Amino acid sequence: MGRFAPSPTGPLHAGSLVAALASWLDARAHAGQWLVRIEDVDSPRCVPAMGQFILQQLGVCGLLPDAPVQWQSQRTALYQQAMDQLIAGGLAYPCACSRKDIAAALSRLGQARTRHGELIYPGTCRTGLHGRNGQAWRLRTDKFIANQPVAHVEYAQAATDLISKTVVHWTDRRLGPQQQDVQAQVGDFVLKRADGSFSYQLAVVVDDAAQGVTDVVRGEDLVDNTARQILLQRAMGLPTPRYLHTPLVLGADGEKLSKQNGAQALDTSNPLAALSAAARLLGLPAEAGTVAQSLERWVRVWGDLPLYNPTP
Ligand code: GLU
Repeated sequence: MGRFAPSPTGPLHAGSLVAALASWLDARAHAGQWLVRIEDVDSPRCVPAMGQFILQQLGVCGLLPDAPVQWQSQRTALYQQAMDQLIAGGLAYPCACSRKDIAAALSRLGQARTRHGELIYPGTCRTGLHGRNGQAWRLRTDKFIANQPVAHVEYAQAATDLISKTVVHWTDRRLGPQQQDVQAQVGDFVLKRADGSFSYQLAVVVDDAAQGVTDVVRGEDLVDNTARQILLQRAMGLPTPRYLHTPLVLGADGEKLSKQNGAQALDTSNPLAALSAAARLLGLPAEAGTVAQSLERWVRVWGDLPLYNPTP
């Protein structure tokens, strides 16, 4: 079971089509189903009606979901259930820290730890709120040592090295072995924000499991989230899907193509050209005939490409 899970913050562009096409081809090549989920959980950034527009763009490209589209904004009860489960298990805790509090705590600790410009939370509220009001909820990333490893995800078990115990190891189908020490490199991350909204990490893990997704195929810009999602799966006793992160289309500035560096909405007047460009980036041959005929050809090639079908 595969899926494409766009956030409706803008129309599909050349970059997002690569992930859409790759996930569709992967599902088709393995006789699986392909789902579309509109990730409108982060509501302030979502553009009204953009979800519908994206679905239209996909349809013009011949990428049609095999089941009704799901909208994350309608699934908040499920996310709250997951939160309740984590809280009951002692794996999530309320946090009252503002950005300023986090900076102050880090400087008291003599640490200036940041990641992608974000302060790494030092875990201040793990020991309680100390009279303040909790607003956000965070995952305890230090609580996973006892989890059982599964086939393609293993926790480093060095008994003498506390840090390496929390390293998540996993293998990406295209990029190969990956690892991240979530506790040290990311910190206790937010599951539910102070404004009551649920984080991408929580929603994506709950939904991938609820929808029975076995293969997550998405853009390489998301690879860095994977270890966090695997920790959350372990925390909730959910299976871990296989992951494949696809190459990115770069903008003129060498950065990932986005609205900020001039990504144009897909030109749906010529879907074959748009699909062909995406296919080329994925290492697939040129188009052959119509959109439907080209898709059919790419499905066959996808199933034969060792890059996308490593031996288990
Ligand atoms: N909604 C996310 C995005 O559009 C993708 C989520 C995912 O594929 O895991 O960036």
